[in-house]
Amino acid sequence: MRHVYLDNSATTPCDSTVLSAMLPFFCDQYANPSSPHAMGKVAYTACSDARERVAQLLHCNGSEIVFTSGATESNNLLLLGLTPQSSERHRIVISQIEHTSVQGPCRVRQAHGFDVQQIRVTADGIVDLDSADELIDEHTAIVSIQAANNETGVLQPIREAAEIARSRGALFHCDAAQWIGKLPIPAWFDLCDFLTLSGHKFYGPKGAGVLMVRSGRPRRSLSAMIHGGAHEAGLRSGTLNVPTIVGLGVACSIAEQQAEKDQEYVAMLRERFESAITRALPHSWINGARVCRLPGSCSLTIPGVPASMLIANLSGICIGEGSACSSGSTLPSHVLTAMGLSREDTDSTVRISFGRQNLPDDADNATRALEIAVSRILDKSPADQTPDALLYDGSDK
Ligand code: PMP
Repeated sequence: MRHVYLDNSATTPCDSTVLSAMLPFFCDQYANPSSPHAMGKVAYTACSDARERVAQLLHCNGSEIVFTSGATESNNLLLLGLTPQSSERHRIVISQIEHTSVQGPCRVRQAHGFDVQQIRVTADGIVDLDSADELIDEHTAIVSIQAANNETGVLQPIREAAEIARSRGALFHCDAAQWIGKLPIPAWFDLCDFLTLSGHKFYGPKGAGVLMVRSGRPRRSLSAMIHGGAHEAGLRSGTLNVPTIVGLGVACSIAEQQAEKDQEYVAMLRERFESAITRALPHSWINGARVCRLPGSCSLTIPGVPASMLIANLSGICIGEGSACSSGSTLPSHVLTAMGLSREDTDSTVRISFGRQNLPDDADNATRALEIAVSRILDKSPADQTPDALLYDGSDK
């Protein structure tokens, strides 16, 4: 059975061109890029080429690229490795809807005495700039705000937030894991001191990410988390993962050429799905529908229909949950909760996300499957509604 995969915000398939570029570096050109011999030089050159491809996409310098294992590591490297410019700067400001890989290290810094503050979001899921203006002060070391939310797809006012941070002398980080590859690079990227991206979110390999660290003050403020061989200019030791780095570089070049075209196509698929599903399920709603969102993302609340049960009833259609279950108990989504949804509504929210490999039929089949599953669930008595055991690792995808 062919699965209809509509969970592209969690991860995307690896592009065949990316895979072909990676393959020689497993069994043929397998040398360590730090080795001085001829084969080592081949591997080194391949990593340098990938570095330049990433830098070209981000309009920065190759020396500002630090390769990591993904966005989680990039966010941790920054938020745990940052040394404030002065002892007066003991505040970290993030938003209420940051990914857990930003929230987690901030909790660690809080336990070590930092004052961590969270900017409110509006009911549409946008960072509230008045709240940002109140919280970002002359004691702020860094502000970290995502470019686009991983649950709702809502795009954030990065230019304005970065300008506030700058005016108070704070550094600015953008977690752009969901933006890169889905939308062209905007002019506000130049305002970021640090930027996170992840290869597997845009048709690259899993296990490859970047923390962009601008030279000058941002670079001087950052220390390594992983120590050893002084790779990546001393910020991330360990033998470079050559195949995934090569793949990430190619994925960046493809994104540079194709993001605009993909954007239109994926937006068409989402529009087709959203107009059909809201007609089929008139009591449902789309979170963040009134504001700018990533082209393929849809956060759909169907009141009275638990997401876990809905997913268990969808055979062959792969969609994401709006809430995270951990150790058997369901935690409400912190994103939807911050937007003002009740516990019941967050538990009745699913995430459908389209990618460039999807077909119009996928949107139509998902609509039909959701319609059937919802009526089946609503027709059943509560006693019949025990969902199949759902395996969830508790992380925020
Ligand atoms: N930040 C955001 C906004 C994300 O969506 C994700 C992945 N869901 C991450 C960070 C973590 O990415 P990775 O899987 O590369 O660690």
